Amino acid sequence: MVVGVLVELSNKNIDRVFEYNVPDDLASLMKVGIRVLVPFGKMELEGFVLDIKNHKDTDKDLKSIISIVDSEVVLNEELLELGKLMQKSTLSTLISCYQAMLPKALKAKNGSNINIKYDIFYKINTNITIDKLNDSQKKIIDLVKEKGLVLRKDLIDISISSLNTLIKKGYLIEEKKEHYRVLYKEKDIIKKKLTDDQLNVVNKVINGSNDTYLLYGVTGSGKTEVYMEIIDYYLNLGKTSIVLVPEISLTPQMVNRFRERFGDKIAALHSALSDGEKYDEWRRIYRKEASIVIGARSAIFAPLIDIGVIIIDEEHSDSYKQSDSNPRYNAKDIAILRSKYHNCPVVLGSATPSLEAIARAQKGVFKLLELPKRVNGKSLPKVSIIDMNERKKSKGYFSLELLNSIKDRLEKQEQIILLLNRRGYSNFVTCKNCGFTFKCPKCDITLTYHKSSNTLRCHYCGYGEKVFKKCPECGEEALSNLGVGTQRIEEELKNIYPSSRILRMDYDTTSRKGMHEEMIDKFKNHEYDILLGTQMVAKGLDFSLVTLVGVINADTSLNIPDFRSSENTFSLLSQVAGRSGRSEKNGEVFIQTFNPDHYAINLVKTHNYIGFYEKEMSIRRMLKYPPYYYLCNIRISGKDASYIYEESLKIKRSLDRNIPNDIVLGPSNSSIFRINDIFRYNIIIKYKNDKNLYEVLDKIIEHYKTNSKIKIDVDFNPSQVL
Ligand code: ADP
Ligand code: ZN
Repeated sequence: MVVGVLVELSNKNIDRVFEYNVPDDLASLMKVGIRVLVPFGKMELEGFVLDIKNHKDTDKDLKSIISIVDSEVVLNEELLELGKLMQKSTLSTLISCYQAMLPKALKAKNGSNINIKYDIFYKINTNITIDKLNDSQKKIIDLVKEKGLVLRKDLIDISISSLNTLIKKGYLIEEKKEHYRVLYKEKDIIKKKLTDDQLNVVNKVINGSNDTYLLYGVTGSGKTEVYMEIIDYYLNLGKTSIVLVPEISLTPQMVNRFRERFGDKIAALHSALSDGEKYDEWRRIYRKEASIVIGARSAIFAPLIDIGVIIIDEEHSDSYKQSDSNPRYNAKDIAILRSKYHNCPVVLGSATPSLEAIARAQKGVFKLLELPKRVNGKSLPKVSIIDMNERKKSKGYFSLELLNSIKDRLEKQEQIILLLNRRGYSNFVTCKNCGFTFKCPKCDITLTYHKSSNTLRCHYCGYGEKVFKKCPECGEEALSNLGVGTQRIEEELKNIYPSSRILRMDYDTTSRKGMHEEMIDKFKNHEYDILLGTQMVAKGLDFSLVTLVGVINADTSLNIPDFRSSENTFSLLSQVAGRSGRSEKNGEVFIQTFNPDHYAINLVKTHNYIGFYEKEMSIRRMLKYPPYYYLCNIRISGKDASYIYEESLKIKRSLDRNIPNDIVLGPSNSSIFRINDIFRYNIIIKYKNDKNLYEVLDKIIEHYKTNSKIKIDVDFNPSQVL
């Protein structure tokens, strides 16, 4: 037997199928989609069996595979095909696409020390008559007899050596059963009766054709309830579902709602799980023990069969795009590919859909569904924009308007959410005397101050140093921590309202496992009055007592030099505003800004998503940005800046020649030019419909593939161009 194997080494040079003989004793175990161990040059590598070329004969010129890694298929036919499509659309290696689909436990190198946990049981072997037992052996036998089947850990106060003797003599049989580490709490919940608007949306999806739907529903319009109803419908048909959320550990409330309704039919895949737990969840899905998968980006590859629906919540979130490593795929595209295979609908939901999605809906590529009203029948909260240029009226970081409203809510015993917008914002240290700032020695970036460890760290390469009292440049003790952290705001609030109970939620306070969820529970139980935090307080939270939302600084995300900064700002502000007034009481929102007239801030006031969309689209058209043009970013990087630059120029010239109808910009320094002593240039291509482009870029990648001085990364539809 001869099989084709793709080895697990992500290198463009060897990213193809190599043939191996299969020894006779392994032939009956051979299946497409399992992993095998093969000799490769001087190495032994794991790889995927991609095809069986010849069932009968062997080829004496070929080497033989060494062993089989999995007895069961880890990549089924659908996923194997999907990987090939992904490879073509991202121009990364095929092996990187397959690796992106699997949990760490099933990857070569990393997976070997991630274990399956077992429970050990004992029972009496009824085929053997038991004789001559000493006291301690008899104690064990009696215990087992009494219960029939006993868990190893329930056998307390017994002698281990007696137990071993009993097993050796064959009196006791040892059994192993896999033990999943993740526990589920199910609840008896009363299903909500859907509103007419909600029912209408559900019916359109389940009775409609298997299209991609864009569900544009304002905050609090009951989208989550709609998702669950659609999933329930497919569950009753015996079908499975995938729900993607931007970052699942930040959306415990949503996951809980799913758990409460569907119990252990849910498998959750998220970053807060250990690798072992993730592997457990993957096996539950693979074995069809779980039929609803909820997770972040990579959950789109869940090995479900017979998918009934794929739902992507907060469709506009950039977390669905993998941008930091290959393959640079977007989970939304993968969802649509999988839906074609399974012939099922995709539902993209958002209160602030991405411009691309709305544009596609307008063209009829996506079907638009709307939930224009809140479930509680109330209107959206009243939003006030506060001009922080008028500093007279403010106290520290707070405007008097916001302070007065906080006071009012504290008196009424209602709750408050305060957002510190940290996007594109770093906490850096500077000298007030000479203006010196601490920079990373290997990267072109200022170091970020970490109060807990009193260190300065580079967020790109991990470099760190201790903070000194004196400025290393001028020697003055004039260092100051610019950057407003949540901690500073908390202190200021405490000074103004000493008896208020403030819960601070940021990267520092939620780093311990389970902390985030615990905090949300405490806030929900009204153990705190004010929830103060970074972006993580903006999304998905549903607290009925919150009637005031304050944004301390709306502008930081606006200042990022990225074409999506307005869109991201509008969306963030609308999302956080949507946390206010979700139940009986009316909500209010205050947004503090230095740019009160900027449309991305101003239009939040009237919840005017359509107005924002139109304004932003006119700018995108003028500047030739998405959705009018597609973007592709080519990153060219290496240690020798001048060599890289020369080669970048060559690439640019070749692109100009080969794709003359597209706009080719650059090469230019990427916004962080040097990371870990690697220099980076960007070439940006703006194109409309270029069939040639993939082929041209593939040739360029091919040309450099053996050149170790230069690295070419291609990113189609990048989430950010910096
Ligand atoms: P969204 O996801 O659109 O922000 P949610 O699904 O979180 O909205 O719904 C907002 C609130 O309204 C939640 O507390 C939810 O439990 C409640 N809700 C949703 N649908 C209904 C309904 N049909 N009847 C009563 N309450 C509902
Ligand atoms: Zn660095």
